[in-house]
Amino acid sequence: MLRISLPNLDRDATESVQRVLASGQLAHGDECERFENELADYLGGGEVVIVSSGTAALHLALVALNIGPGDAVLVPDFTFPATANAVRLVGARPVLVDVAASSYCVTPSILRHTLDHWPGPEPIRAVMPVHEFGCPVDMTGLKQVATDFNLQVIEDAACALGASHAGSKLGLFGEIGCFSFHPRKTLTTGEGGALVTADAALAERLRRLRNHGMVRTEQGSEFVEVGFNYRMTNFQAALGRAQLPKLDGWISRRRELALHYRTLLAGVSEVRLPADVAGHSWQTFMMVLDDSVDRNALILKLREQGIEASVGAQAVSLQPAYRGSARAADAKTVSIAARLHRQGLALPFCEQYDEDVLAGVATTLCKSLHD
Ligand SMILES: *Cc1c(COP(=O)(O)O)cnc(C)c1O
Repeated sequence: MLRISLPNLDRDATESVQRVLASGQLAHGDECERFENELADYLGGGEVVIVSSGTAALHLALVALNIGPGDAVLVPDFTFPATANAVRLVGARPVLVDVAASSYCVTPSILRHTLDHWPGPEPIRAVMPVHEFGCPVDMTGLKQVATDFNLQVIEDAACALGASHAGSKLGLFGEIGCFSFHPRKTLTTGEGGALVTADAALAERLRRLRNHGMVRTEQGSEFVEVGFNYRMTNFQAALGRAQLPKLDGWISRRRELALHYRTLLAGVSEVRLPADVAGHSWQTFMMVLDDSVDRNALILKLREQGIEASVGAQAVSLQPAYRGSARAADAKTVSIAARLHRQGLALPFCEQYDEDVLAGVATTLCKSLHD
């Protein structure tokens, strides 16, 4: 089976994990602090706080910004539902907004429209732009909307480590940026995540919340607020550190391969290709099928021929946990997300695959569409 993607773990990576295991320092340790510093250098500034998952990062970000009951937060309807779940978990209300048909991301004008028509009663306090599949949201335009409506910005860059907007890496455009190192992302620690912020006091609070709300004192330790155990292990951090120097090379290769898929699939009339936005890191290559195609039947047909293809992301508003509860002010505005959820198809894609592998996928896909 040609998998949708593969983790890219070479001997360096596995040896560095073995080295940490042999040291006996398994929970938070030196590797964690080094990984945080190296990630901050990679992102071009700020302080990084590594955590146990991307979802933990999103949750901590909202807690640290004091968002809770009585607040509303703008979240794209098309995302992995963890974005909206984090808002619900702090007791706030996610306001789902639609996305653009070819970037699969929110746009400044969609956000402005929702804010202009928001009936309340909760004040909208924050926006969580999702850089879906590594496609950068227009953060210049979004920041203007955030300024006009006095919103805090939490970037869900879970699948967008290394992607950029206007020449700057994603993550530091708002108050906090969040990343995931799940195996479906380009750099993986098994499970894992990170937050980045330019605000040193906020970083200190995030570190404290990550570790039970504890601070070290001369006498030992004190628990100054209620926190979590969202720490990453030392051996996971070692795994991440081994991959980080290679990440930009992997992303460049993904850009070439995404262009290659675009060429291979350009003439297929049932297929709408993803927008090639500058700075895209191509964590996933998802296209959208015409309504005439039964997407789920196509997934099964491809699987029978040894190709794993899958749903891209979800329309949160269609999930049982959200049905009817979290729609945007104007229900009509969540229609593109529903269509992407129904007709989106993610193809096998990662830097280890070459042009021949992609050509094989394209040929099988075309045959399956037409027989
Ligand atoms: C992967 C992902 C998450 C969740 O990250 P985990 O590390 O699996 O918890 C959240 N948001 C988006 C957009 C993602 O792609």
